[in-house]
Amino acid sequence: MISVKHLAKSFDGLAVLSDVNAEINAGEVISVIGPSGTGKSTFLRCLNLLERPSAGEIRIDGIDVLAPDTDVRLLRQKMGMVFQSFNLFSHLMVIENVILGPMHLLHLDRKTAVARGMELLDSVGLAAKAHAFPDELSGGQKQRVAIARTLAMKPEIVLFDEPTSALDPTMVSEVLAVIRKLASQGMTMMIVTHEMRFARDVSSRIFYMDDGTIYEDGSPEQIFNHPKREKTRAFIHKIS
Ligand code: ADP
Ligand code: MG
Repeated sequence: MISVKHLAKSFDGLAVLSDVNAEINAGEVISVIGPSGTGKSTFLRCLNLLERPSAGEIRIDGIDVLAPDTDVRLLRQKMGMVFQSFNLFSHLMVIENVILGPMHLLHLDRKTAVARGMELLDSVGLAAKAHAFPDELSGGQKQRVAIARTLAMKPEIVLFDEPTSALDPTMVSEVLAVIRKLASQGMTMMIVTHEMRFARDVSSRIFYMDDGTIYEDGSPEQIFNHPKREKTRAFIHKIS
């Protein structure tokens, strides 16, 4: 579904990503782990063109993402993204946040968008908060709304960039439970996370990123129990 070849990204001549290669199949759940500053966010952001790669190739469903005529809006609709910081519109009620994209970008009529939005809010346990404003919600609730909003665009893939890093520890599990449910439903996902137990449980594969590249790629069993390379081993040793 996603094919990445020799992807590179520099900022002002400074290489942040180099020679990133990955093949991701439909239905896979990939956790991206590794020290901070190693390019995990930049990698995700390159996939949906929030950052323009400096070199390399990205194909999604066979389509060349870096071609000059790529429809960036369509790309971002196919590939939803959930951020650490929720990014909800604070002046809009929860349900309005969820239906905004479907109405304006998918051209759903309001009634259809609301019906589907309510289903999604129900699926993240927040139907009762549909008419609340974001500021009336806890961090965990805001992030669950953000996930519902992303799903409302009917993405084929969802990218999560540290979805629980901004949350109080008590709220982490409610958000991880929503992501687990999506995994069990077969959603294709890439999740940058520091929640190692979650990564081990939920993932079909782990990408360990270091030195601006996918330094080691393997099953959770391999990466956590039998890492092959020295830096992976040192990282796993340090966090466990
Ligand atoms: P991670 O998510 O693994 O912590 P990032 O992808 O955020 O790493 O960042 C990797 C490196 O790229 C860091 O050194 C960071 O400072 C740098 N970087 C990220 N975004 C930018 C940017 N827009 N401009 C300049 N440098 C950036
Ligand atoms: Mg990051």
